[in-house]
Amino acid sequence: MQTKTVKVTQDIKKDEYIYEEAGRILREGGLVAFPTETVYGLGGNGLDPDASRKIYAAKGRPSDNPLILHIADKEMLYDIAENVSDKAEKLIDTFWPGPLTMVFKKADKVPSTTTGGLDSVAVRMPSHPVAVAMIRAAGVPIAAPSANVSGRPSPTLAKHVVEDMDGRIEMILDGGNIAIGIESTIVDMTSAPPVILRPGYITKTMLEEVAGEVSLDPTLLVKPTEDLRPRAPGMKYRHYAPKAELTLYEGSIDKVASVIWKQALEKMAENRRVAVIATKESKVVYDKLVSEAESAGKIQPNDNKIDFILLGSRQDEESIARNLYAVLRECDEKAVDYIYSETFSLDNFGQAIMNRLRKAAGYNIINLND
Ligand code: AMP
Ligand code: MG
Repeated sequence: MQTKTVKVTQDIKKDEYIYEEAGRILREGGLVAFPTETVYGLGGNGLDPDASRKIYAAKGRPSDNPLILHIADKEMLYDIAENVSDKAEKLIDTFWPGPLTMVFKKADKVPSTTTGGLDSVAVRMPSHPVAVAMIRAAGVPIAAPSANVSGRPSPTLAKHVVEDMDGRIEMILDGGNIAIGIESTIVDMTSAPPVILRPGYITKTMLEEVAGEVSLDPTLLVKPTEDLRPRAPGMKYRHYAPKAELTLYEGSIDKVASVIWKQALEKMAENRRVAVIATKESKVVYDKLVSEAESAGKIQPNDNKIDFILLGSRQDEESIARNLYAVLRECDEKAVDYIYSETFSLDNFGQAIMNRLRKAAGYNIINLND
């Protein structure tokens, strides 16, 4: 299949003919990838079981992992979801359109292929103007998981979508950079109190300010086991993973940087390629360690096989989230054997970042706290 990649601007009127084409493809059962404020999505008609099957096939996604339905207005919600509570209405009024997905009892018209066989349905109203225009043009709820091959980091640039989906889908809408960079918060509204199934930009505190008590699926930051299974079927899979072995080091910046540096030097001596994921703050420490090693003649300036990849600033959590997946993909591109990274706070938005990073590392974490 020939995949058509089209650049779109924020000027929806000017690009109207593109949305007409995307809408037609979707109504006819084809697939279109598109930007949202969280990550790029892989869209298909959420009411068409064949379109859902195509999504699972294009991604290589297990069919028990349900898809989120994306809508452009509230009327669409009442068409696909039942028992929308007052609490849910409050959350909708505050956070929609935006990076919050809510799980409701599903209406009969939603095919069970879309919901991975569950009798509930996950729904989100994205705020990205391109996503909104595309859903409106299609006129149906759009089932859209992240537009990556299953198990790979989610796409935050159109070029990531091209890498994973070229030849597998009809169209890619290239809307440039993504604002948030990690997937939406998912809250199960079918239980009391509501339960966070996946942490995201909308935090527990933000939800509780609006809707009262909200609990957290206890599996979100630890390795799932037979006895402790995540309630969102997709969260049990090894998501977001780069190809190299990723190890996380917890502790003070100085301690973490010196242990990672030592570890990286050992691997370099074995002729292995290493990437170190650094922040603006730790980079200062690494630079010092590198120049000390050079002055001591331990390494030559040009035979350094260690790549320092800048993730963002610890002072700006949003920069860390926005760059995380692109950095993991960059490590893949550089075909490194080992990746080492520092960790981040588990508070607020940090919880979502660490949920993704810990999964990417397959829970391979070394604690250097005293
Ligand atoms: P993705 O679309 O790749 O961001 O993944 C969607 C996530 O939403 C997966 O972890 C799914 O398991 C989860 N999800 C979708 N629908 C439901 C549902 N009805 N109940 C619980 N989790 C859901
Ligand atoms: Mg995904």
